[in-house]
Amino acid sequence: MSAWNFAAGPARLPDAVLALAERSLFARDASGACVSEQPFSGAACRALRAHASRQLAALIDLPADYRILFLAGGAMQQFSLLPLNLAAPGQRVGYVDTGYWAARAALEATLHRPVHTLPPPGDAPLAVPDDLAYCHLTTNETADGLAWPELPAPPPGVPLVADATADFLCRPLDISRFGLLYASAQKNIGVAGLTVVIVRQDLLARSPASLPALWSYARQAEADSCVNTPPVLALQLAALVFDWVAEQGGLPAMAAANRRKAALLYAAIERSHGFYRCPASPPWRSPVTVCWHLPEAGLEERFVAEAVAAGLHHLAGHPRRGGIRACLYNAMPEAGVAALAEFMADFQRRFG
Ligand SMILES: *Cc1c(COP(=O)(O)O)cnc(C)c1O
Repeated sequence: MSAWNFAAGPARLPDAVLALAERSLFARDASGACVSEQPFSGAACRALRAHASRQLAALIDLPADYRILFLAGGAMQQFSLLPLNLAAPGQRVGYVDTGYWAARAALEATLHRPVHTLPPPGDAPLAVPDDLAYCHLTTNETADGLAWPELPAPPPGVPLVADATADFLCRPLDISRFGLLYASAQKNIGVAGLTVVIVRQDLLARSPASLPALWSYARQAEADSCVNTPPVLALQLAALVFDWVAEQGGLPAMAAANRRKAALLYAAIERSHGFYRCPASPPWRSPVTVCWHLPEAGLEERFVAEAVAAGLHHLAGHPRRGGIRACLYNAMPEAGVAALAEFMADFQRRFG
């Protein structure tokens, strides 16, 4: 029986990447060292960074005035670095309150700068004051199963900043709409320990000289993301994933596959006539983190337990949200999602 991991992250890696990683990551070269054993300022590590940057830039169609930083640490570290780098002391920063992760990002920012909270656009469009240092949004709310159907346009002079951790590389994104976006690696890029930051070059001038070097986007950009020893192994895996995404046909192919996968689950929810309930309104339903509820918590526990027996793992919703959650990031094959849709129909026949 196949086993499928629907965890929110760390998440599954593509099978082909895992196989290649087993063969290549610890292979030693003529100098007697694998890449992780080499000086990070040396030729092998420089070549790795250059290859990863080039591949990623091609995948996301990076405009010329943007820089890619490969930083250690997770997305939550960026929650603190954003206000410290991009806003002057006392300057307001804006956060669109779409759900769990947006709220956590805003909470960290309040430790450093005054936060102006914006309700997500619904009947009214997003109204962004023009004195904000930036406007932050979460492209995909992993715990709530929401994704922005369309990006907002803040006033000129207020850069859009995004936590793109959950759906980075899952669909084409117009980078020029953002001042900065960031994604930690363990969902769609590779393994934990690495965060990709994409920043418009002019914003680097905002990093105060007084910031610790490791926290400064400007100092990291100057140092080619190597102010100190970088997470080389995580970057090697990321480079393998970038190559794999390109081989699959790039972001349009990822988006098409993710739409097909998500459609299987949303169709199963619609067909259930209310047995499975998805709280997200249809335009906001995420293609990569699908969340739903059953009529009672007891049934949800049973669903999760019986799913494990059917080879479908880690389907419990976020602890703060409850219910069921299936994460269908890039590396989840359609066969796994089809098996889950089948299990949903069978479970409803028995308990609905
Ligand atoms: C998983 C996730 C995070 C958490 O990232 P860490 O790398 O663990 O800090 C942050 N934001 C979003 C949207 C996520 O999905």
